[in-house]
Amino acid sequence: MIIQPKTRGFICTTAHPEGCAKNVQEQIDYVKKQAPIEGPKNVLVIGASTGYGLASRIAATFGAGAKTIGVFFERPASDNRTATAGWYNSAAFEKAAKDAGLYAKSINGDAFSREIKEQTIDLIKKDLGKIDLIIYSLASPRRIHPVTGETFNSVIKPIGKPFTNKTVDFHTGVVSEVTIQPATEDEIRQTIAVMGGEDWEMWLEAMKNADVLADGVITVSYSYIGPEVTHAVYKNGTIGRAKDDLEASSKRINQLLESLGGKSFVSVNKALVTQSSSAIPVVPLYISQLYKVMKQAGTHEGCIEQIYRLYADRLYGKELELDSNGRIRIDDLEMKPEIQKEVDELWKKVDTENIYTLSDLEGYRSEFFKLFGFGFKSIDYSKDISPEVSIESIKD
Ligand code: NAD
Repeated sequence: MIIQPKTRGFICTTAHPEGCAKNVQEQIDYVKKQAPIEGPKNVLVIGASTGYGLASRIAATFGAGAKTIGVFFERPASDNRTATAGWYNSAAFEKAAKDAGLYAKSINGDAFSREIKEQTIDLIKKDLGKIDLIIYSLASPRRIHPVTGETFNSVIKPIGKPFTNKTVDFHTGVVSEVTIQPATEDEIRQTIAVMGGEDWEMWLEAMKNADVLADGVITVSYSYIGPEVTHAVYKNGTIGRAKDDLEASSKRINQLLESLGGKSFVSVNKALVTQSSSAIPVVPLYISQLYKVMKQAGTHEGCIEQIYRLYADRLYGKELELDSNGRIRIDDLEMKPEIQKEVDELWKKVDTENIYTLSDLEGYRSEFFKLFGFGFKSIDYSKDISPEVSIESIKD
């Protein structure tokens, strides 16, 4: 099969196995060039196949020599369809871990369900005994509640009043004004149910009850705050409410882990191109401008640089500094006043005519296609290749 990118709105419906493998390898190479991390040994990553979760798995394995179990929800290839990028990423990751002599097993299924939690705990008991780091990095549009069976859908909307601002279609470069109507109370409730902290708590409770948490265990979930221009649609919107809920869960998880000397954290990360962030209105334009300014300043980072820093300098570094709300901040470079001042100035001026000079839209687009394994110069995309790739530990 000849695999080319096919886009529908902000998603790419195809993925290239060799390109995804390359994407994974680049992240592994980055970590291998850094100083080793005196870090975790047995790690569970929930949401391990793309974005921040994949980087969390790679940095733990190749930075700290950790054994990892990764949970994700991806689709293998079938008939004339390629697998999802996260499937190919995980296949390549497991192979690289195995080649390096490091344990890595994956579980593909709905992390919100009771079954997947049980399956994961059984695997931990069988292979690892206890876990000392749990990264919770799910981003999902939907959740079926494991107790009530209710299906929740998350929406990205402002709260209270409509929000109007600039946005870009990152495929065409057209900058336009978008107005997003405020969420209803029920939409807020549903978004909190999907992207809030209840499921994270359920994981930790189930793991504690099954006695698979090591003494001194750490768990981390990821959040975003960002600048004023995105606040209505992010921090003060439905997703922000869900992140507030995540922080409340983190406090309860801290109590749950007290008897083990464990700790729970929310880490506020940088805005980056991932499958999830490209779905948020306004944010891709902000990210394009942020990339331009941070690349110029020499402080630009991707998921892997962010997570390496989270492990090496913060979680397993000399001193863990927290903000006044008890959060880890690895969005520190993004939020520097001089960076934000420049982005703000560009924001006021940007339009369709000047988008390529006032933003790094090219960079955004190429990062986006890279997420699906496209755009690597060393890969011949006209070559016929098999979309069927198996993940070693998932073969049935
Ligand atoms: P992503 O879309 O790249 O990754 C989501 C992961 O969740 C994938 O591994 C996917 O398979 C998994 N997943 C989704 N639904 C699942 C389910 N039902 N069961 C099992 N696995 C499931 O997302 P991302 O951007 O890396 O986001 C991860 C976290 O980081 C989110 O909490 C997000 O809010 C946060 N974050 C993202 C950014 C950003 O700019 N991308 C910035 C700060 C924080």
